[in-house]
Amino acid sequence: MTELTKLSLAAARRGLADKQFSAVELTEAYLAAIERANPKLNAYVAVTAHEARAMANASDERRAAGDARPLDGIPLGIKDLFGTKGVHTQAASHILDGFKPEYESTVTANLWRDGAVMLGKLNMDEFAMGSSNETSYYGPVINPWRAEDSNANLVPGGSSGGSAAAVSAWLCAGATATDTGGSIRQPAAFTGTVGIKPTYGRCSRWGIVAFASSLDQAGPLARTVEDAAILLTSMAGFDPKDSTSAELAVPDFAAAVERGVKGLTIGIPREYRMDGMPEEIERLWQQGIAWLKAEGATVRDISLPHTRYALPTYYIIAPAEASSNLARYDGVKYGLRVAGKDITDMYELTRAKGFGREVKRRVMIGTYVLSAGYYDAYYVRAQKVRTLIKRDFEAAFADGIDAILTPATPSAAFGIGDEDMRADPVKMYLNDVFTVTVNMAGLPGLAVPAGKDARGLPLGLQLIGRPFDEETLFAAGRVIERSAGLDFSPRQWW
Ligand code: GLN
Repeated sequence: MTELTKLSLAAARRGLADKQFSAVELTEAYLAAIERANPKLNAYVAVTAHEARAMANASDERRAAGDARPLDGIPLGIKDLFGTKGVHTQAASHILDGFKPEYESTVTANLWRDGAVMLGKLNMDEFAMGSSNETSYYGPVINPWRAEDSNANLVPGGSSGGSAAAVSAWLCAGATATDTGGSIRQPAAFTGTVGIKPTYGRCSRWGIVAFASSLDQAGPLARTVEDAAILLTSMAGFDPKDSTSAELAVPDFAAAVERGVKGLTIGIPREYRMDGMPEEIERLWQQGIAWLKAEGATVRDISLPHTRYALPTYYIIAPAEASSNLARYDGVKYGLRVAGKDITDMYELTRAKGFGREVKRRVMIGTYVLSAGYYDAYYVRAQKVRTLIKRDFEAAFADGIDAILTPATPSAAFGIGDEDMRADPVKMYLNDVFTVTVNMAGLPGLAVPAGKDARGLPLGLQLIGRPFDEETLFAAGRVIERSAGLDFSPRQWW
């Protein structure tokens, strides 16, 4: 039999149902793989072997009693941003040292309700701020992928870099992740995995450490489109504890995966053809268009005129919300406390020591754009531009567009410690040019691996959908996955 860890989530689910192996055996296989790989990849910041074994045991007992749930016995990794009761939850920050919440996030609670097994907490950029997983207090995650002609370590993308690396390197059957500006889709593209940021409101934000509350959304990272659909079905759902959670029934997303694209109209936004875009990204995009056409979709050029303002607008709104959300980390209630001569001194010393450079940069930008005298010029104006960006999409959908196809990222994975990005944060921010618009408009976006660059590294395409129409994205994503027909397994060097 194939190694248990290499089975897709869907195949593992069938194997468990057919009693080919037990949840305990599957969990042990993953724990052994993590033990071997984690010193090299640094994907997990905490391995919860004890909890995993207990949950796997309970799963086998449920199955024996004829009470198996939709995800029974499936081992998952959880991004460190999700509150997990009594378990390490630090958003990969020093300031949350030792924090073990008294609560469970709704999304993870939904997964446990459906029988899934928790393997541990996954590394990420500190407070989900970053595109390379290099801002983590726990050190960078290493991408399991290497270029064919080099042994240099590459970044897995961010902020959900641990989730993407763990899924790609067979260290979990699937993972939770979050996306505020691209943090599910960009790491998916960099690791040859599938990630979906659902419509804002589809998954509850309750119990997830907040970055920018009007943009944050949880979603799955998985090895196949079908696996992502299965996971989202369990993660999603109305939650009265999140006032922005949508009171809508959750479809069986997996049922939509093989629906095809016949009769759909796919929009190609001309503003996404950026100056200086690498030739191979353009080629990938054209290939995606050809695949969708060949399967019966109509493809039409569209215009989303405010696209060029999305990134600058994001870097006003996201830091503004972050500066407010992160005000609570002051040494009083959570994690780290650095003693000072009085309480103000204690606050200052704690925040100076507890936050990393990128987080401090965001807090300073956010505080600036919200300050008296600048609020109207920056924050209020950014909110207006955000509305215009949203209207661009609404106009396209009103005009008969069912989904939009774009590249997921402007490049393949880059090197750890890349000098250009280190010297200029804006270069790092540019990773998200194709993805932030989707968060600004609250729409669903799916990244699917579609090709490889000249050095054999994975490249992804993005599909953007109408609000709450994730089903169309799964169907079109599956067409791309099937048409590409490539194996997105990294060469195992670790
Ligand atoms: N890279 C973006 C940022 O640093 C997006 C991060 C995210 O989606 N969490 O803000």
